[in-house]
Amino acid sequence: MSKICILLCLLIFTQIKASAQKIETETVTSLYREALTDRTAYDNLRQLCRNTSGRVTGSPQAARAVEFTFDLMKSMDLDSVYQQPVMVPRWERGKKEKAIIRSGKLGNTHLNIAALGLSVGTGKRGVSAQVVEVMNFNQLDSLGSEFIDGKIVFFNRPMDPVLFNTFASYGQAADQRMLGAASAAAYGAVGVIVRSLTTAQDDYPHTGVLRYAENSPKIPAVAVSTNSADLLSNRLKEDPGLVLQFRTSCQTFPDVVSANVIGEISGSVYPEEIITLGGHLDAWDLGEGAQDDGAGCIQAVEVLRLFKKLGIQPKRTVRAVMFMDEEIGQRGGKEYARQAEIRQEKHYFAIESDRGGLLPLEIGISTSPERFTKMAQLSPFFEPWGIYRIREGGGGSDITPLQKYGTPLASFIPDSQRYFDYHHSANDTFDKVNIRELQLGSAAMAALVYLIDQYDL
Ligand SMILES: [Zn+2]
Repeated sequence: MSKICILLCLLIFTQIKASAQKIETETVTSLYREALTDRTAYDNLRQLCRNTSGRVTGSPQAARAVEFTFDLMKSMDLDSVYQQPVMVPRWERGKKEKAIIRSGKLGNTHLNIAALGLSVGTGKRGVSAQVVEVMNFNQLDSLGSEFIDGKIVFFNRPMDPVLFNTFASYGQAADQRMLGAASAAAYGAVGVIVRSLTTAQDDYPHTGVLRYAENSPKIPAVAVSTNSADLLSNRLKEDPGLVLQFRTSCQTFPDVVSANVIGEISGSVYPEEIITLGGHLDAWDLGEGAQDDGAGCIQAVEVLRLFKKLGIQPKRTVRAVMFMDEEIGQRGGKEYARQAEIRQEKHYFAIESDRGGLLPLEIGISTSPERFTKMAQLSPFFEPWGIYRIREGGGGSDITPLQKYGTPLASFIPDSQRYFDYHHSANDTFDKVNIRELQLGSAAMAALVYLIDQYDL
């Protein structure tokens, strides 16, 4: 081939590449335009929140959420919509919890508490004991049975306010909620009260799951609002001998059958390759589960709507999955991966939205360095829409079980500053979701799925 021929070929190739790039940029713009001018997702989230409020795993509200999202996707002219049965835990809070500080010196004061998920109840008479305040497990260990036996342990370490990423501060403080009861029970404690995992200073207790140890007694455990935690801590300084009494009536029942809800658009070229988009359908019973994680579910559904509306035919099968039981046992995610193995499905890519329907800032991806390098090159498509980087490290508890099949796992990462104001509390309601932030999130995920599929990344 002559030099002129080579140059001509290169020029034509570059032009084809440039015009291909133009098509993809235009499609991404169309996805954002449609998402930002349509209220369907916002209205769907409102209905989910209002009609299935308190949809803790295994509850009648969770069953209604399964029906609601199933019917919703059935109405969307998708290629397939189905429920994937899964056995889930069943825990009920029972009556509203009560806690009171009794002090001969300072009088009686009520605290705002909520039982932790999977906690045993106190029985009618409640738990009543002196309180030992600790900030960490080292302190608990050094106090030991001598000081802990017969007492209520008060775990009062706040989330570190200095970390920019509030999920990192949550991760550093969550051991108290998760393992506090098991650790305190080993030293003879009769109950546990844990400072709520939130960056807000207010009166909402924030619940969440705990894990008991097999070899120590199951003792009742509650979360206390940050205002009440500070109050208890101050009262203890003035009267270390005060008595805390609390009463809960929560119970765990045998497992019940529930379901993951799945809707998909079949791939036109590689239908056997699956791209999974997910959120979790269950939510803590105290609120409406708007940010955690109704938003993630509705965004996944919205991605399918955007594809249908714009006539985007993916090469691979794109699946929206409403995972059941993320909050207690992560059974939905495990069952989804188990079924994928049984059916020998090839999971090409998975993205989870479980950090709220807040302003999109980043996309995190865990995959091989080679594939990550290719995916990170998509950044320029997102910069005009406020997503400033695609970074290494992604996933989420519902899609993590797919990792063993080599599936690249991604997280949709919005601004985290307000998320823990709402998380696992009665404050997680529909009115806290901003329509534009929700829409931008759906568009970002739709664009990512479209580009990964289009470029075979
Ligand atoms: Zn969640």
